[in-house]
Amino acid sequence: MCTQRGGPGAESARYTPRAGAESSRRGTNETLNCSEKIAMSDEMSSPLLLHVEVQEDPPSGAAGRRTVAILGSGDFSRSLAVRLVACGVSVVVGSRCVKRIAPGLFPDAVELSNQERAVEKAQRLVFLALFPEHYPSLLSIRAALAGKVLVDVSNATERDCGVASNAERLAELFPECVVVKGFNMISAWTLQTGAQDGSRQVLLCSDSVEGKNEVAQLARHMGFHPVDGGGLQQARVLENAPLHLFPSWHGPVLATSLLFLFFYGYGFLRGLLLPYLTSGRNVFHRLALDLPNESLPNVALVCLSLVYLPGLLAAWLQLWRGTKYRRFPRWLGGWLMRRKQLGLLGFLCATLHGAYSLCLPLRTATRHTLINAAYSQVKAGVEEPWDESGVWRSDLYLSCGVLALGILSLMAITSLPTVGNVLTWREFTFVQSGLGYAAMTLSVMHTLVFGWDFAFSAQAYEFYMPPSYVLAVAVPCAVLVCRCFLLLPCVSARLSRIRRGWESVRKCPVTPGQQRAVHRTHPRV
Ligand code: NAP
Repeated sequence: MCTQRGGPGAESARYTPRAGAESSRRGTNETLNCSEKIAMSDEMSSPLLLHVEVQEDPPSGAAGRRTVAILGSGDFSRSLAVRLVACGVSVVVGSRCVKRIAPGLFPDAVELSNQERAVEKAQRLVFLALFPEHYPSLLSIRAALAGKVLVDVSNATERDCGVASNAERLAELFPECVVVKGFNMISAWTLQTGAQDGSRQVLLCSDSVEGKNEVAQLARHMGFHPVDGGGLQQARVLENAPLHLFPSWHGPVLATSLLFLFFYGYGFLRGLLLPYLTSGRNVFHRLALDLPNESLPNVALVCLSLVYLPGLLAAWLQLWRGTKYRRFPRWLGGWLMRRKQLGLLGFLCATLHGAYSLCLPLRTATRHTLINAAYSQVKAGVEEPWDESGVWRSDLYLSCGVLALGILSLMAITSLPTVGNVLTWREFTFVQSGLGYAAMTLSVMHTLVFGWDFAFSAQAYEFYMPPSYVLAVAVPCAVLVCRCFLLLPCVSARLSRIRRGWESVRKCPVTPGQQRAVHRTHPRV
């Protein structure tokens, strides 16, 4: 953050594009050389830009204070200007009509001017805080723009509409300028509040490495992490990114919602509707609290098993094929990629179940059910209401549930990138796989200890429908049994060999051509 860079170190962190930077636009497959390095701020210890070397900032005052122009005076322009001024960058805003800009909209340090004058004042960088349909209006100041680095911050309005990206069209419109796509994923709000809030990554793409480096240097100076997004042909990906809403969560959210609907509907039919229709028993008050509390743990349990089931299927497939070098089917690959999301949604359901369970006794107490039960016992002459086995059972299943929730919380925390990054791969696997199976076992025990009696009594199968937890527990039990089978020494040894690169000769026979190739690369000594 630039505020942290105040004091003696502030000067060295000032944005200073390299003196004498060439403005020529370069080809896509241009390679990097030493003169194309990016200055690195003090707080950065390792390069963040892919394929880009870094060098120390030039000495303070070496290149002097540079001016950046922003065309357009809307929301993005104002936020960007505020942020740049706060970082000590000189800013000139170019508007079609300066008089229309309300007084006080921009900080006093920002110079307001017409578009042409603003561009002329800019040393190199010109941000286009305009909508792309207005880019052609800049053709009137083409001469002034020549040689400048145009930063295109626009976003797409339609996904995959088949036409060239805004940035590519801008580059076609102004071939004498360098076009850099970037900052489009940073909101005006993030720019104003500072880079500590919101995402700090600024993805940049351009066909000019030099232009990209200049923008990256400014981004870093503003407290962002510039990330090299490749050539300008990647601009479409960057422009489309803000149109996606949680792209990796669609499948898991759909699966979890369907599971919840299934268990809730099943419980409604079995516990509320059929008793009402057959015997007139009205227990519809259970809709709001009891029924969600019954459905949520079932969903959590199935979600948790769905986290581990694809790993087991993948292992079985590798054993069956006798190799790890064949791709998994698409559906399995996609499922493997969504395990984290499924786990987090399962964790959410388990947490809600915990909260609902805490609410239930409160409701029971307020509805005087406990007092009524005590009164009935006194009336019936029951002197010792203590039920030893009942207490054991309730303590056991509560303990299993609390422990499972605790482990799930730990897994959820370690799935956060900031926490996961400090774990080694082995530690991460231990938490996510080893402890995950422990959480699933405890959840199954929680369910079984709770419903052991009911599961085997005939009354529990009213209307020939088993209790919902009996359905829910089937999947995790199957997963645990499969997992145990994979732990058998003969099976696990074969799987380990396959995962180290061994291939079954019977299942994957080597063709004579491949044999010859092997002999050519490894001649016999
Ligand atoms: P905005 O508030 O509507 O500002 C757009 C500016 O464009 C206007 O202030 C105006 O400036 C200029 N303009 C309007 N009509 C024009 C015309 N016919 N010809 C030429 N210039 C015209 O929009 P914005 O929210 O700042 O967004 C600007 C760009 O930033 C967009 O491409 C958007 O996708 C991108 N962006 C915005 C955000 C955000 O959070 N707002 C985030 C990322 C990217 P003058 O009247 O001063 O010329």
